[in-house]
Amino acid sequence: MKLVFATHNKNKLKEVKALLPHHFEILSLTDIGCNEEIPETADTIEGNAILKANYVRDNYDLSCFADDTGLEVASLDGEPGVYSARYAGEDKSSEANIEKLLKNLDGKKDRSARFKTAIALTLNNSEVLFLGICEGEITAEKRGEGGFGYDPIFKPNGFDETFAEMKLTQKSEIGHRGKAMRQLIEYLRE
Ligand code: IMP
Repeated sequence: MKLVFATHNKNKLKEVKALLPHHFEILSLTDIGCNEEIPETADTIEGNAILKANYVRDNYDLSCFADDTGLEVASLDGEPGVYSARYAGEDKSSEANIEKLLKNLDGKKDRSARFKTAIALTLNNSEVLFLGICEGEITAEKRGEGGFGYDPIFKPNGFDETFAEMKLTQKSEIGHRGKAMRQLIEYLRE
C-alpha cells in the first residue's frame, strides 16, 4: 500500500519507516516531487498536521499522513508549542532554539515538559487524527549526540538518558511520535 508521509525530514522518515510493516510503501514529499513549502499557518499542532495532510490530498490526489510536533514547557505556559521549529527565528536552528529555551528556563524550578505529536491521516474520503504524548523534563544542559531538534535537552520521565543519548528504537518505543504512529498503524491494520 502506497502512502505519502508529508515530510522532507530524513530523521522522521527513518523513525517512521522503522515502525511500519514492510508492505507499506512510504513515499516522502521529495519522492512525489513536492518541493514547495506547505503552509503551516494553523495555531495548533493538530491544525497544522491536518493542513499538511489535506494539502497533499488536494494537490497530488494521494493518501497521506502528516505529523506536527511541539514541545510544551509547563513553566513557559506551553511554549514553544506550535512554534517549536522557529522558536529562535525563521532559520529554524536547533542550536539556537535549545539555547533560547535553556535561557528562558534559567532559574525556574519547574522544568517539566512534554512532546506532543499529532498525526492526521487522509485516506479515501476519511480524515482521522492521532495524538502521542511523552512527558519529561528539560535538562540543565545538552547531553548526547543522537536524534534531532530538542532531543539533547529532553529527558523522558522514568529514564536517566536524554532522547539524544538513547537508541532510536528506544526513543520510538516510549516517544511521542512512536505512540501516535502505533495508533495510526493499528488503524491501518483494521
Ligand atoms: P515539526 O513541526 O513536527 O517538524 O517539529 C517542530 C519542531 O520540533 C522542530 O524544531 C523539530 O526539531 C522539533 N521536533 C520535532 N520532533 C522532535 C523530536 O522527536 N525530538 C526533538 N525535537 C523534535
